Amino acid sequence: MDYDVIVIGGGPAGITSAIYTARAGLKTLLAEKGLVGGQIALTENIENYPGFESIDGAELANKMLAQAKTQGVEHKLLDVKNITGDKEKVVETDEGNITTKAVIIAVGSNPRKLGVTGEADYEGKGVHYCALCDGVMYKDKVVAVIGGGDAAIKEALYLSNLAKKVIVIHRRNELRAEKDHQEDAFSKKNIEFIWDSVVTEFIGEQFLSKLKIKNVKTEKENEIEVNGSFTYVGHIPATSWINVDKNERGYIKVNHELETSVPGIFAAGDCNEGDLAQIATAVGDGAIAGTSATKYIESLK
Ligand SMILES: Cc1cc2nc3c(=O)[nH]c(=O)nc-3n(C[C@H](O)[C@H](O)[C@H](O)COP(=O)(O)OP(=O)(O)OC[C@H]3O[C@@H](n4cnc5c(N)ncnc54)[C@H](O)[C@@H]3O)c2cc1C
Repeated sequence: MDYDVIVIGGGPAGITSAIYTARAGLKTLLAEKGLVGGQIALTENIENYPGFESIDGAELANKMLAQAKTQGVEHKLLDVKNITGDKEKVVETDEGNITTKAVIIAVGSNPRKLGVTGEADYEGKGVHYCALCDGVMYKDKVVAVIGGGDAAIKEALYLSNLAKKVIVIHRRNELRAEKDHQEDAFSKKNIEFIWDSVVTEFIGEQFLSKLKIKNVKTEKENEIEVNGSFTYVGHIPATSWINVDKNERGYIKVNHELETSVPGIFAAGDCNEGDLAQIATAVGDGAIAGTSATKYIESLK
């Protein structure tokens, strides 16, 4: 076989998995289709990952990859398309097939975007998808939260402790968030709600300054002034091509050892079912998945 372990996805979960399997003496390939580091490679500033008071995402990603290489991990730019086989697994990539004993899936998930004018232009300059990550930029400013589910309301509460005003824009006339969170949000003096409305355009010059909003009942449009916006209309896991058990939203189902429904295939990080999608949780998953894959390979002997 070409490798003992192939890790698919070079974000924090994948890199950590690879470090663990390589340190266990297993021949490990890290297959990443784009920038190593995954979502963190596109993040300006990380302040909640222990050991680094503040670090540029790309710098952290490069440090993680350098550490993996020092431990013997081989990294290749590969887009994985399919996994087949049984005891000998075949990983089908854009550069051909590779065989391995075990696979760790760490393909992550991406925030669902609205797909409206200006959204891509102001990404990172007023358009955000992670309050925990970027909320601190809006201390004493006015921000919008787009969405009405639990994530949106929890993040609106988090932002209300930083921002001067938080405007929740929701396409329905009631929230879908847990009752407790709803009550907390309604009791906050600096959280306002705009109901039955969707954002149709992000407007600004160098930075975002306004949102165009349409009332879905009256079809009337108007503009509101904001310094920043945080969109929570769901995530899309990058798992559509993977044949293991998933939940109805496409997240991979795993047990405590991070085994999937297919023996020898493990999954780690944001692509799995879970409550928190952060670097620290992805790294924790990577350690578990790497260790479980190592035990699986030992059990084959
Ligand atoms: C803007 C932003 C800011 C953030 N800031 C913070 C922060 O400050 N602190 C924090 O803790 N978290 C932050 N996060 C969240 C954090 O980045 C993620 O939770 C973390 O990166 C998840 O790691 P992962 O390895 O599971 O997935 P990802 O980082 O998503 O990595 C998955 C990798 O898999 C690759 N891949 C996908 N499909 C394939 C395929 N078929 N073949 C090969 N490769 C594939 C992708 O290219 C990607 O590189 C932020 C996220 C965003 C979007």
